[in-house]
Amino acid sequence: MMKLKFNCLNCKQEFFYYYQKKFCCQKCQQRYWRKSHKEHLREYMIKWKKLNPDKIKQYVIKFRKKYGSLYQRKHYYRIKNEIFTLLGSKCSKCGYNKDWRVLQIDHVYGRGDADRKIKLGSYKYYRMILSELKMGSKNYQLLCANCNILKKYENNELNQFTYKRRNY
Ligand SMILES: [Zn+2]
Ligand SMILES: [Zn+2]
Repeated sequence: MMKLKFNCLNCKQEFFYYYQKKFCCQKCQQRYWRKSHKEHLREYMIKWKKLNPDKIKQYVIKFRKKYGSLYQRKHYYRIKNEIFTLLGSKCSKCGYNKDWRVLQIDHVYGRGDADRKIKLGSYKYYRMILSELKMGSKNYQLLCANCNILKKYENNELNQFTYKRRNY
């Protein structure tokens, strides 16, 4: 028996088979069915969600356990990006803007590190900064790593004791 040539309806690739077939593989068949029944499936899912709220909760918990940190990291970079654009994405002392990885968000009055260590995880910390910036706060600036360290030495921010004595 001869194999005949067909085109797969889903992936449009040629394949050979003994009798007429629409799809090259089962996956293509499933994908094609899903594509052509999109609205039907959506309605079905909405009904199913209403009927099984507990299962949805379990799925969400599972999903968060598996991908939670990854999702947060994406979010984290998005927020960081927004902060950078709001602050002009360059060093406010020397104007360096070639590589964003060297730029750091700095509290103008030198509380940044202390705040981050004591109160919040860095993700929440960045979110707080972003909301403050959107309200028009001028407490934050971007500094490149060089300027940041120099500023810390000049202001004695590296010394914990002076920080405590000053009582910001
Ligand atoms: Zn195919
Ligand atoms: Zn600089």
